[in-house]
Amino acid sequence: MANETEPMLSIEEAHELVLAASSDPLPAEDTPLESALSRVLAESILSTLDLPRWDNSAMDGFAVHAEDVAGAASGSPVRLRVVGEVRAGASADVELPHGCAIRIATGARIPDTADAVIPVEETTLIASGAGSVSSAATDSVSPIRSGGFRAGEPMPEACLVTSGVEPGAFIRRRGEDVRAGARMLEPGRRVTPAQIALAAAVGLGSLRVHRQPVAAVLSTGDELRSAGLELGESGIPDANRPGLLAMCRAAGAHAVDLGIVPDSLDSVLAALRPAIDRSDLLIVSGGVSVGPYDVVRSAFEALGRVELWRVAVQPGKPFAFGTSEPRASDGRRVPMFGLPGNPVSALVTFDLFVRPALDRLSGLASPYVETDRAITEERLGKAAGRRGFLRVVVLRDECGAPIRDAAGRLRVRQSGHQGSHVLSAMAAADALAVVPEAVDHLEPGAEVEIRWLPR
Ligand code: AMP
Ligand code: MG
Repeated sequence: MANETEPMLSIEEAHELVLAASSDPLPAEDTPLESALSRVLAESILSTLDLPRWDNSAMDGFAVHAEDVAGAASGSPVRLRVVGEVRAGASADVELPHGCAIRIATGARIPDTADAVIPVEETTLIASGAGSVSSAATDSVSPIRSGGFRAGEPMPEACLVTSGVEPGAFIRRRGEDVRAGARMLEPGRRVTPAQIALAAAVGLGSLRVHRQPVAAVLSTGDELRSAGLELGESGIPDANRPGLLAMCRAAGAHAVDLGIVPDSLDSVLAALRPAIDRSDLLIVSGGVSVGPYDVVRSAFEALGRVELWRVAVQPGKPFAFGTSEPRASDGRRVPMFGLPGNPVSALVTFDLFVRPALDRLSGLASPYVETDRAITEERLGKAAGRRGFLRVVVLRDECGAPIRDAAGRLRVRQSGHQGSHVLSAMAAADALAVVPEAVDHLEPGAEVEIRWLPR
């Protein structure tokens, strides 16, 4: 049986043990783009196409020979006869004789013979049958006008160009965005919406990502009831399981609910044993301390081994970590986390220890914790000898944006009482303020590191 005199591990030692014992990243699989968001890439992604696929027009306008309009000026416009059109999605196989122009749409292929585009806004259009510029100018149906095409109108007969263009003007070159065969995306990072668009733009329908970790969550405690069930005289609603399942989802895992079991070794084992084959990581809350009914550590010992026991963290002591015997299906040892029953402690220890393990399984190259520097407006107190993670709110302006001083530091206040059972303060918190082991408090005005909580 564990006892309170066992030495406490530092957070870094605990972290190292957890990461060393958490299994390697999960194997790779192909996933369709629609389910690739936030998954972690398992390999470099190469482009299968040039992007753009061909030289195309950056504007609605006219494809021309640049040399034909070299001398154009507002006093001496160049008139080009419009001899054809290339629409988006159409063939660019259109002849462009000198002195002529081809109407072209944004994104349409540039005909081989053209070498520049003139935006329609920089031309005057002359409608069919309008004759010369001077006579047409008086026509009541205004066959001469500038400012752009109008949807559905027939092709103009000609256009007047009042300034020259350089060869290549308003042409987007084949492959200037991404070349076929180029590495576009690197492994070990979560896929973003823009990366999904990029993959689609080069014709990929799926991405090779790590399998999503399956994380199973069990609550232990004779007093616990599922939300909505009769509480009776001595029951309390189970807060940890919904909270931890949500934490798993926020960390990119597929969360599996193992329900509630009473404080008995057999019940805990009966719930965990089958879960090892179906999950990549197990989370148990409650029953991990040194009370007579705290059976989780014994359960971990029966299923595999316990790697660590007491960590110098507040809140969060007691905390247990173990790994299962290698499972039959793939030989992996499944990491098992025994989190404290107190809801704040359970959520904080998840953030400190479980999330990095899920990041590792997910294939993240560098698990990333979003931290910031802040000035505390209040005294922040905690036990000496343990690193404190105090629940704080970040002060914001009237638009809701965090306020920073000239040095970029935020301002924080406690979000409520700092007891490890005070869930309202955890629910109100933006972040955890990290108070070092060596001190028992920070004075108002002191600088403190904060870790943002999942938002
Ligand atoms: P334990 O770690 O089992 O000693 O529990 C510590 C405290 O957390 C006790 O007050 C428990 O009632 C409470 N607790 C344990 N599990 C939960 C849970 N799932 N939801 C809410 N409170 C819990
Ligand atoms: Mg208990």
